[in-house]
Amino acid sequence: MNSIPRRRFDCLVIGAGGGGLRAALQLAQGEAHVAVVSKVFPTRSHTVAAQGGINAALGNVLPDNWHWHMYDTVKGSDYLGDQDAIEYMCRAAAHLVIELEHYGVPFTRLDNGRIYQRTFGGQSQNFGGDHAARTCAAADRTGHALLHALYQQNLKARTHFFDEFFVIDLLVDKDGSALGALVIEIETGEPLIIEAKTTLIATGGAGRLFRTTTNALINTGDGMAMALRAGIPLQDMEFMQFHPTALAGIGILITEGVRGEGGYLINSEGERFMERYAPKVKDLASRDVVSRAIYEEIHAGRGCGPKKDYILLKLDHLGAEVIKKRLPNIRDLSIRFAHVDPIEKPIPVNPTVHYTMGGIPTNRFGQVVVPVETGPEVPVPGLYAAGECACVSVHGANRLGGNSLLDIIVFGRAAGNNILEYLKENRFHRPMAEDAVERATARLTRWDKKGAGESVDLICDELRLTMEKYCGVYRKQDVLDEGIKKVTELDQRLKRATLRDHSKIFNTARIEALELENLMEVAYATVYSAAARHESRGAHSRQDYPKRDDIHWLKHTLYSRDGHKLDYKPVRMKPLTVEPFPPKERVY
Ligand code: FAD
Repeated sequence: MNSIPRRRFDCLVIGAGGGGLRAALQLAQGEAHVAVVSKVFPTRSHTVAAQGGINAALGNVLPDNWHWHMYDTVKGSDYLGDQDAIEYMCRAAAHLVIELEHYGVPFTRLDNGRIYQRTFGGQSQNFGGDHAARTCAAADRTGHALLHALYQQNLKARTHFFDEFFVIDLLVDKDGSALGALVIEIETGEPLIIEAKTTLIATGGAGRLFRTTTNALINTGDGMAMALRAGIPLQDMEFMQFHPTALAGIGILITEGVRGEGGYLINSEGERFMERYAPKVKDLASRDVVSRAIYEEIHAGRGCGPKKDYILLKLDHLGAEVIKKRLPNIRDLSIRFAHVDPIEKPIPVNPTVHYTMGGIPTNRFGQVVVPVETGPEVPVPGLYAAGECACVSVHGANRLGGNSLLDIIVFGRAAGNNILEYLKENRFHRPMAEDAVERATARLTRWDKKGAGESVDLICDELRLTMEKYCGVYRKQDVLDEGIKKVTELDQRLKRATLRDHSKIFNTARIEALELENLMEVAYATVYSAAARHESRGAHSRQDYPKRDDIHWLKHTLYSRDGHKLDYKPVRMKPLTVEPFPPKERVY
């Protein structure tokens, strides 16, 4: 046995965003001994950046119903979402948002004291009728409010935190059962083995795979890559969401809440062009539709600015009072980074990589599931995933705004509950697989070597450019095949790379190298899955296959690391208690 120190817990939660913290809270309140590991201080996790709000059919502003929310989510997913999970999420939403309020989330209020709800894209009343007002908001800082409240509740419940510890890899035994993880403390570089009866991956998305993104530096798909290395396939990785409105050239998000409050998009001719693309709901069509419309306008020469490469988001007509009260953060970001005060002038915006719809396959209890040859998929013993790194799948081919904060709360809690049940039946730690520890340690020591090899930073930049160029909004077979070649070449270069030949190797440099290895795994999964799907659905837009093809492609992709193998599994079309929503043409 090696000399690395060890700590033991009932459950190891990897990630302190909303998904990890909601699960940890359920566990700590259920008397489980739970550790949360995060590579950044918990309240710096990316959930903090969420702006617009969280969906729940509370009906505080306009009439609403969870069933209408379910319909919008299934339609928004371009029918690739699993309808049992979607029903579960939409039914749970109202109760869990009220629970968040009781945990201390300071939601914006209506005059009657109820939670304020705004209009978001793709949301309707009465199965496709008028706009719904479903997105519960704390001004335009909802994620900040939510994450801080959950962190405080976890402190109260005595969750154990390992702040600024980096997880190198999962530890799994020969049967694939989860045993915990190898981590290092970022400040000291000291390794630690965390042994756990159950492990929950809640590491967030992989938006840093692309050059321009609304995602923070930490969103490098670490948990997804760990799952791949543990032999678990990733689901639906070809579906990467582009948000229509990020600050042009910078990538900072301008929430859909701006359009929900009445803002709209105009081209260089001053035309409100969404009236042509989505005559009924206009600027509040779903994100894939609006992003593509913006690109069409730019390609048709109706972009704005000297290079005609962005369009404008106009909200000055809302008036200073509404902007200051409901969108203070957006105004601040816009003044600071684009030197534009939206009270006076429109904001220059562009579509930007935003959300990873695919991820680690789970069921609605948060259990990681894998296919078996003999029958339906089975849970991996002791292994769970929740949040953006997971694919339940409630977002299918395109996520609706406001549904991700809901996803992390609903399925973080569900995973916590299922883990408590599992712990009742599995009271003892399984023996540690020492060969798994050795493999994980080798990942770390590989970057101890100094030398004259190529710099990791350059490869990282090239990978992001490659993904943008060869696997962007519009996709084509020859371009995607070229993308596969480029990613393979970059991977070969990464295998020969070393850290720079300084006298001392800093842990942060080692961590960046490890993160790049993770991004590389996710890049393969994304580009291979995209090259194989010969249809256009949601965020996956193929110029050579412009139509959705339900006969051949109404199925989930499963990408495995070994041999870059692709398998497929059916979409779960049967909800829990209501009639299914069969696929039909998606118009807004
Ligand atoms: P995160 O909050 O990203 O947390 C991931 C955690 O994993 C972090 O604690 C990180 O430290 C940890 N971690 C990762 N790798 C490692 C490792 N190797 N070792 C240790 N720790 C690790 N959704 C909505 O519904 N409404 C909105 O208004 C909204 N606004 C958004 C605005 C922006 C700018 C962005 C980018 C997204 C927005 N989203 C919104 C999406 C939503 O915020 C995210 O999908 C969601 O918060 C993800 O939560 P999470 O818990 O899965 O992961």
